[in-house]
Parts: sequence; structure tokens; C-alpha cells
Amino acid sequence: MVFTFKNQYLQGVYDKTAKCYANEPEFLQAVGEVLQSLEPVVAKDPSYETNGVIDRIVEPERMISFRVSWVDDNGKVQVNHGYRCQFNSAIGPYKGGLRLHPSVCPSVIKFLGFEQTFKNSLTTLPMGGGKGGSDFDPKGKSDGEVMRFCQSFMTELCKHIGADTDVPAGDIGTGAREIGYMFGQYKRLRNEFTGVLTGKALSYGGSLARTEATGYGLLYFTEEMMNVMKNDTVKGKTIVVSGSGNVAIYATEKATQLGGKVVALSDSNGYIYDPNGINLDVVKDIKEVKRGRIKEYAERVPGSVYTEGQRPWGVKCDIALPCATQNEIDEESAKILVANGTKVVAEGANMPSTPEAIAVFQKNGLLFGPAKAANAGGVATSGLEMSQNSERLSWTFEEVDAKLKGIMINIFHNAYDRSKEYGVEGDLVVGANIAGFLKVADAMKWQGVAY
Ligand code: NDP
Repeated sequence: MVFTFKNQYLQGVYDKTAKCYANEPEFLQAVGEVLQSLEPVVAKDPSYETNGVIDRIVEPERMISFRVSWVDDNGKVQVNHGYRCQFNSAIGPYKGGLRLHPSVCPSVIKFLGFEQTFKNSLTTLPMGGGKGGSDFDPKGKSDGEVMRFCQSFMTELCKHIGADTDVPAGDIGTGAREIGYMFGQYKRLRNEFTGVLTGKALSYGGSLARTEATGYGLLYFTEEMMNVMKNDTVKGKTIVVSGSGNVAIYATEKATQLGGKVVALSDSNGYIYDPNGINLDVVKDIKEVKRGRIKEYAERVPGSVYTEGQRPWGVKCDIALPCATQNEIDEESAKILVANGTKVVAEGANMPSTPEAIAVFQKNGLLFGPAKAANAGGVATSGLEMSQNSERLSWTFEEVDAKLKGIMINIFHNAYDRSKEYGVEGDLVVGANIAGFLKVADAMKWQGVAY
């Protein structure tokens, strides 16, 4: 996708970034989308140009890349690439997840770190943006192999992070098991017990409701968006969710609690369709307990069907919640959703819709909740985990859930109000990008140009 801008300054920054990082398509996609939203902001206030804010905000403060060597169960040495992108610390310590997936590369880590900067700003909590991970694939590995990989990964990463510097969390392929092994290794090497990671188990400093937070938050955001913009609710709606990992499972749980019926879930091999509504106990057993594949659902639940090799966007629904990975809805899939009568799309995954797909949704008047606003509940609750760790206290599930709900409702209104203020009422892509940007940019201006 080629991005063009009315504003010369934005065009110059984008062109320079595109030339410098020509082999990083995901990163350029994320930068292009945000800069397009900033046209009215930069046009209105020349200080963003005189302070070089846009030039600086698209360049990570630090990109760390390192070797991760570990020994597999056959005694063979394996080598993976490890990364931590410390993108922007203007409003707080770097904060963002660690992705373990074969597709991880500098482009993916940088796009995620860039997006995270604005998302964290939207939560109103003091967190900068960062992201990291490795091309290691935990699927099919033994617990021992995962442990040895995580220990080796942390042996290098621990030199660059800390409770007041950079606080990583989970993401694709990194759940409580991986966070536990990494935390143990950090503690061993540094001889300190601090809140250096979030997404921890409850027995050693994790927060209640962190596991549920991204999925639940997505639904709190969606419900508020439907309520305010269409005087409607999730109740009675048919819903398709992609993925069957952490975000997908807890989005399904909250959607069902709100009276919706989720009829499809997927993984990278295919999707299941259950016209009676997904039985989440079965999904949790397959994915959280047995670490199995989603096709096993169709073998266990009568009346459900598994389709190999396809994404679930052909299933008729009122609400679509992409909760798997980037660019999983392209223009063609978006047109299928529109033709099937879908009225709402809210992004649980990061950048799951291509720019062309978003254009289709907006042209056809769908309600569209962009990732950096709609899925911010995970990092917001990680921020709450950091607060509890600092205080050496644990809050109840109800307390954390109530704070999460308040934050998600506030994020919707912040994005919606900015969309009105800048003359594009209801365009939450523009509204969220501007709302997230303003706070980070202001902090950068206060702190001077050396940073
Ligand atoms: P998990 O690893 O728990 O689950 C990921 C799910 O997506 C799995 O079902 C996986 O299938 C599927 N998936 C992953 N890659 C692909 C692919 N290339 N094509 C098709 N399906 C794929 O990750 P999470 O649920 O934590 O994360 C999902 C998304 O949500 C990501 O975009 C993440 O960045 C985002 N997110 C997560 C947050 C969190 O708190 N966990 C917070 C905010 C955003 P398979 O098992 O076959 O690989």
C-alpha cells in the first residue's frame, strides 16, 4: 500500500521512513496509517514540525537484537533470533508483550512497538511503548524445551529491562508458562523480586483478571461503541471470533455473558462452526489444558463442523471480532463480511485488518473499533498489575474488572470525542490515533529534542 499525504512534512517523514525500512512492510503499514490520521493535527499546530516530533516518533529509541541458543530434547543446539524494541518512553517505562512465533522479525516487532506507544497512551496509565519476541515456535515443544529457550532468552533480555525501565508481558505464544520461566530466570540472574514482567501467575504477583482482560476489554469497548453510536447492544447478536488463544477465548466468554452467540473460532489451520453457540468449556480444555488444535472441537461437539485451511470470515454474523493476528482480514474478506450483513467489527488482535479492508468497512457504514483502542484492556490491566506489585498488594477480581471496564469506556469516549473535534465523527481510527498521539507528543516536547 502506498500512503500519500496532503501535508509536506508528513509526506517527507513517511518517504524517508519508507526508504530506510523498505523491507519492513508491517512497520510501514502501521506508520502510514497513523500519519494519515495526524494530517489535521499537524496542519493545525506547526510546533510538531519545528520540534521534529513526527520524525522522532516513527523511529524506535532502541532496537535490541540478540542470539538465543538453547539445547533441545535430543541434545542438539538450536539458535533463534531474539528482539526487544524499546519504542518510546516519553510517558513511562517501555511496556508491551513478547511474541513467540516463527513469523517474528524486525518489521513485526517494530510495528507492534509503534502501535503499543499510542495504545498505552490511550489507557491514561504511565506506560511507554515497547515490544519484543523471537522466531521460536513453542508449538510442539516439550515443557523442558520451552523452559530452556525462555531461560536463554531472558539471560540476554535481563540486561535491558527492569521494573522502572521496561516491563514486558505476554503476546502470541507467550502465556503464563513462558512468563513464569522468564521471571524465574530474571530473579536468578539479578537476585531481585520486582514487577519486571506482567501476566504472572497469581502465586507470585500476578493480577486477578489479567488473563481475561484483553478479551473482556474488547467486549466492554464494543458494547459502549454500539450503545453510543447505534443505540444497540451485543445481546442477541451472532458473533464470529478468529483465533482460539487468550484473546479469542475471553472475548467469547464475555460476549456470551452479554447475551451474544459466538458461532465460530479458528486457529492457523482452520475454523470451527457451531450453530448452537460455542461451548467454551470444551475450547478451554482443548487449548488451555491440552494445548491441542481447534479441529478437535468438531470431534467432541455434535452439530459442529471443522473447515480446514480457511479463515472464518465467510460465516454469517452481526459482529466480527478478529483476535488472531495481523492482516487476517483483507479487502476480499471485508467485502464478504459486508455482503453477509455484518454491522460491527472490533479488533482484538493487533492490526488484523488491512488498510483496504478498513476502507471497505468505513465506506459501508460499519461500526469499526480499531485495535489500539479496542484491545487496550490487556495492557491496561498489566498497568494495574504493575501498580499492585509496587504497592505489594492484590486487588480483588471485581476491583480489577471494574477498573478495566471504566478504562475501556473512557478509551471509547476519548477516541469518539477526538473524531468529532477533528470533523470526522465516528471515525475511531482517526480519533484513537489522535488521542493516543497528543499525550505522547506533548511529553516529547516537554522533554526536549535529545530524546
Ligand atoms: P495466543 O498465542 O494465545 O493465540 C493466538 C491465536 O491466533 C491462536 O489461535 C493462533 O493459532 C492464532 N494465530 C496466530 N498466528 C496466526 C496466523 N498467522 N494465522 C492464523 N491464525 C494465527 O495469542 P493472543 O490471544 O495473546 O494474541 C492474539 C492477538 O491479540 C495478537 O495479535 C496479539 O498481539 C493481540 N493482543 C494480545 C494481547 C494479550 O493480552 N494477550 C493484548 C493485546 C493484543 P495457532 O495456535 O494455530 O498458531
